[in-house]
Amino acid sequence: MDFDLVVIGSGPGGYVTAIRASQLGLKTAIVERAELGGVCLNWGCIPTKALLKSGEVYEELGHLEDYGLKTEGRSFDFAKVVERSRKVSAQLNAGVAFLMKKHKIEVIAGTARLEKGSPAPKVVVKLNDGGSRTVQAKNVILATGARARTIPAVGLEPDGERIWTYREALVPKFAPKTLVVIGSGAIGIEFASFFRALGSEVTVIEALPRILPVEDEEVSAAAQKAFQKRGLKFRVGASVKKLSSSKSGVKVELEAGGKAETLEAEVAIVAVGIAGNVEDLGLEALGAEVEKGHIVVDGHGATGVPGLYAIGDVAGPPWLAHKASHEGVHCVEHIAGFAPTNLTSPIPGCTYSTPQIASIGLTEAQAKEGGRKVKVGRFPFRVNGKAIASGETEGFVKLVFDEATGALIGAHMIGAEVTEMIQGYALAITMEATEAELQATVYPHPTMSEAMHEAALDAYGRVLHI
Ligand code: NAD
Repeated sequence: MDFDLVVIGSGPGGYVTAIRASQLGLKTAIVERAELGGVCLNWGCIPTKALLKSGEVYEELGHLEDYGLKTEGRSFDFAKVVERSRKVSAQLNAGVAFLMKKHKIEVIAGTARLEKGSPAPKVVVKLNDGGSRTVQAKNVILATGARARTIPAVGLEPDGERIWTYREALVPKFAPKTLVVIGSGAIGIEFASFFRALGSEVTVIEALPRILPVEDEEVSAAAQKAFQKRGLKFRVGASVKKLSSSKSGVKVELEAGGKAETLEAEVAIVAVGIAGNVEDLGLEALGAEVEKGHIVVDGHGATGVPGLYAIGDVAGPPWLAHKASHEGVHCVEHIAGFAPTNLTSPIPGCTYSTPQIASIGLTEAQAKEGGRKVKVGRFPFRVNGKAIASGETEGFVKLVFDEATGALIGAHMIGAEVTEMIQGYALAITMEATEAELQATVYPHPTMSEAMHEAALDAYGRVLHI
């Protein structure tokens, strides 16, 4: 037996799982074909946050006079903006390498494929520097993640020049003057926000009737209004039927309300969802079940094939880094025979646009569709002292409580830094807090988090500042 555990994939699912395995005393190896840290650190969550920060600062520079400040014009060096984002990724990538070393996790650089073995499938690695290596472990965890969903029949695939997925959009050679973003999920909205902040003319096309369709309807509506104020354009209920490119730009043929229409732009970003990396792993021969692009697993990540587990994006939605890490820790604690970390904790979702959006639990509509009677509270940042002082009065907090028990079942926020605040409600829901506990909690003044308190008070007719 070479290892107790082999983890395949080193994104936030895989590398966190490997660290926890090492803490639990398992002799662990991790196989990675590309950069340590996976998509999140190198091509997703982290570098986009670096780009968005540059965009935000640039946008703020346009409003300096609101704060009584002055500066001589403003400009940006696009290559440096991108370079900073790559440096941020490189720093964290080195951090993961350090953590692997510190926890004595062997890193095998190559592409893994599974073959029949005992007590778990054998891992055959085609090494990046040539040759191959076969390792047998007691258990294998697949954490191979996901990639941008492409639809070649419609032209929704990168062409290396004018049509980008998140991957090309993270290392652009230029900021397009005109840009079409296809899809208004978190990826589409974040890139639309970034390029708009730097002055691009951006149109976002969304097939469903509203943008950010997974968010609460009131949040979607407020987000669209706030983005439009910044000059973003939207075509909702508009499905892209054909995307094509030439040397100078792209042509988007869409259908909206039964009518055909054509848009042109310098560049298109395709952000129509993601697909799990399930291919070429040898899953079919082992009998592991794959459904809708992800591996079918039980509540502990077990695939049904002895010794084979899957966690994170490759094991299905929600496709979020923190969900992957959480599942990985649970899975490896289960394998090691420890009482595993709770898996039923709700999972927050965040979109780092300006303004930001963050949510957890059920939307009002989902709660009602599920047959629940609800109490709903809201509080706008426009009457919050800290928000006014900071000049960041956009947005609100909306809470959904179960009427029968008073339990908090959903929290939805739009505004400045709400992605830093949603964790308060994540803790509350995980601890099964009710309105009484949220109302009894003392919130520091002056902070934007006071709106979190007021929304709970509002649901029960006790709001103070309206
Ligand atoms: P998504 O599934 O969230 O959104 C894609 C959108 O594209 C949908 O609203 C869909 O209706 C629309 N669409 C699909 N086909 C279309 C067509 N032909 N024409 C017009 N619109 C079309 O996908 P995403 O934004 O690509 O993100 C992928 C995943 O990654 C999501 O699950 C997201 O949660 C996760 N993610 C999260 C963050 C974050 O937390 N900040 C950031 C990036 C990605």
